[in-house]
Amino acid sequence: MMAAHFDLVIRGGTCVLPWGMEQTSVGVRAGHIAALGVAADATAEQSIDATGLHVLPGLIDPHVHLRDPGDKAVESIPTGTRAAVLGGVTTVFDMPNTSPSITDAEHLAWKQGYAEASAWCDMGLYIGGTRTNIPHLASLEVGRGVCAIKVFAGSSTGDLMVEDDESLERVMRAGRRTIAYHSEDEYRLQARKKLFKSGEPYARHMEWRDEEAAFLGTRRLMALARKTARPAHILHVSTAEELDYLKDYRDIASVEVLVNHLTQVAPEAYETLKGYGVMNPPIRGRRHWEAAWAAVRDGTVDTIGSDHAPHSRAAKERPWPEVAAGLTGVQTLVPVMLDHVNAGRLSLARMVDLMCAGPARIYGLVGKGRLAAGYDADFTLVDMRRQRRIEEDWIASPCGWTPFAGMQITGWPVATIVRGQQVMREDEVLGTPVGRLAKFR
Ligand SMILES: [Zn+2]
Repeated sequence: MMAAHFDLVIRGGTCVLPWGMEQTSVGVRAGHIAALGVAADATAEQSIDATGLHVLPGLIDPHVHLRDPGDKAVESIPTGTRAAVLGGVTTVFDMPNTSPSITDAEHLAWKQGYAEASAWCDMGLYIGGTRTNIPHLASLEVGRGVCAIKVFAGSSTGDLMVEDDESLERVMRAGRRTIAYHSEDEYRLQARKKLFKSGEPYARHMEWRDEEAAFLGTRRLMALARKTARPAHILHVSTAEELDYLKDYRDIASVEVLVNHLTQVAPEAYETLKGYGVMNPPIRGRRHWEAAWAAVRDGTVDTIGSDHAPHSRAAKERPWPEVAAGLTGVQTLVPVMLDHVNAGRLSLARMVDLMCAGPARIYGLVGKGRLAAGYDADFTLVDMRRQRRIEEDWIASPCGWTPFAGMQITGWPVATIVRGQQVMREDEVLGTPVGRLAKFR
């Protein structure tokens, strides 16, 4: 019998398979996983020695804002996806609150073509739900590469917002797929803003956008989701109260937690980071950090995201509350999570569950999220013993800063492979932008 031939074989690594860890080789053909366990006499065009490394399914960041169209001096699809692959991410889901926003077929068509011509990793695209595009949402949400409708039920960057129950219910009744929500109660945010003055300490951010603003938003959304039977993915859940409450809504709701809320704690974060610690929902106190980790451990959390949301340094250095909310994070997501694994806060298997299987399950992502025959040959190779400090000169986003600067990390992504093509090896970006639109059911 003729020996098998592959485009790429990854040998000697510890593969994180859905059914456990195994030291095995992976054979790739035509961009797909062709074999787990490759015979010794098999030949390959390319081979990677992964001895001493862990081979993970390509890690997914389901929550990024690549700001494109927008200000290229801050971020763009080419620069943000380059940052993603440098950080060990093979697929990003990009938010619609750009300028202009992605809320109609015309802008979606533009973004589909542009992403496929310029992205370094694969992409899913969110469509913004607004009051005016409700009649079109059912067709927009099944567009090519569309991961979900995103609804901003509380204010954030851009002009997208649907804050009242009547409009939210109409959005939920248009279409069938899971809707992703920014859940903070806009009315409470507006009412409380009057309690504070410009120039007060940055830590006021978590007092203004308090626990009840988030919890009230989530209670309202859950009532409407139950009423309409429309699945809801609550993005960046940030309070102990919501994490407890949402356990009773598993029939209709899923949960994202951000790496920031698992890593940064108030008030220290505001004292050291000032405006570079301001994001929505805010970084909160230790009680919520503990609840987020408990929710990772007990399975409440479905996905982990970075909410990569760059702004210029000038915008981050304005006084509170004029300071722009949002932090960079797509490039640091994997190192920071690997460090949490090494610190014993979660297992590598749970990290893969949260960053591969989770996004695939919640968004209906096709052909990604697990190492299995026939799936896309997306891999993140990580060295669990590598020690390195996060430095700002490593950050590929043009804005040039990270709220994790100076953090000492153990565990680092050393290679990124997208559909069988090596796009990053040891800090070097390789080849040309190969990104395509991900597929969703
Ligand atoms: Zn976001």
